[in-house]
Amino acid sequence: MNIIFGPIHSRRFGKSLGVDLSPGKKQCNFDCLYCELDPAKTMDAYDDVVSVEEIATAIKSALKEHNDIDFITLTANGEPTLYPHLSKLIDEINTFKGTTKTLILTNAATIDDVKVQDALLKLDEVKLSLDCATQKCLQKLDRSHSGINVENIKAGMLDFKARYHGPLIIEILIVKTLNDSEEEIAKLNDYLLKLQPTRIDIGTIDRPPAFDVKPVSYETLLKISHLFDSSLPVYIASRKKAEISASSYSDEEILETLSKRPLTAEDIEALFDKYSQNRVQNLLRKEKIKTVSTNGVEFYKKA
Ligand code: SF4
Repeated sequence: MNIIFGPIHSRRFGKSLGVDLSPGKKQCNFDCLYCELDPAKTMDAYDDVVSVEEIATAIKSALKEHNDIDFITLTANGEPTLYPHLSKLIDEINTFKGTTKTLILTNAATIDDVKVQDALLKLDEVKLSLDCATQKCLQKLDRSHSGINVENIKAGMLDFKARYHGPLIIEILIVKTLNDSEEEIAKLNDYLLKLQPTRIDIGTIDRPPAFDVKPVSYETLLKISHLFDSSLPVYIASRKKAEISASSYSDEEILETLSKRPLTAEDIEALFDKYSQNRVQNLLRKEKIKTVSTNGVEFYKKA
């Protein structure tokens, strides 16, 4: 039973130590079509529970082995907020974590539960998934447990945002034909304008999914990113960037592109050829472009 995995290195979170709160089997209130774990019956409470002591001991010994961890990331073979001792576990981690930050990756289905909110308030960063703005989409794509309602999730996120002072990241996974329509994105956009999260990460399927569902291309992700209001910090978090070939952009085209959608350094590397990247740097020196940092991700915007 492996409670600890990694450390995994990522640009956004540095060196992250993964903590699996459900190491024995998949325990989730969703059964997403894109899940990389085998399909499993949904549940609203874990029936296979590891003790707080066992998890804390595993984290302590991993921190001893790797003394340069940036984040302790709570996740699960399933949904980590269903772990019944989450609040107690976070309290325990906070006694020994020192300057290491804590983060949870959750599907947000329980975010309308005040007890879950109270536990998450004690974390340094929170990342909530929101693939769908409509109930129809949630049931089809995320195959949620009965009784889970997307309107409660959205209201719960707003309540939590009002109480939480750390970075709140929203993750949207786009799946071909399931949540990539302009209507669905427009509804997500309307909601996210109200929520005002720290950052919105959009991505697609990067690993083999449980069901026969398809990713979208990087170009589609880019097009979808343009459908969001340009005031929202949308970050394209996808390995699919590697699949596109860079193009040449004039100064005007660069400014036009950045006025529609701020891009990250990673986007610029993927989309712009070497000459165009130099033009970006020139425009930056001339202060026609500026950079804005949002929770570890630097965006290039038209000044
Ligand atoms: S929420 Fe995560 S673990 Fe649960 S089914 Fe969806 S992808 Fe799998």
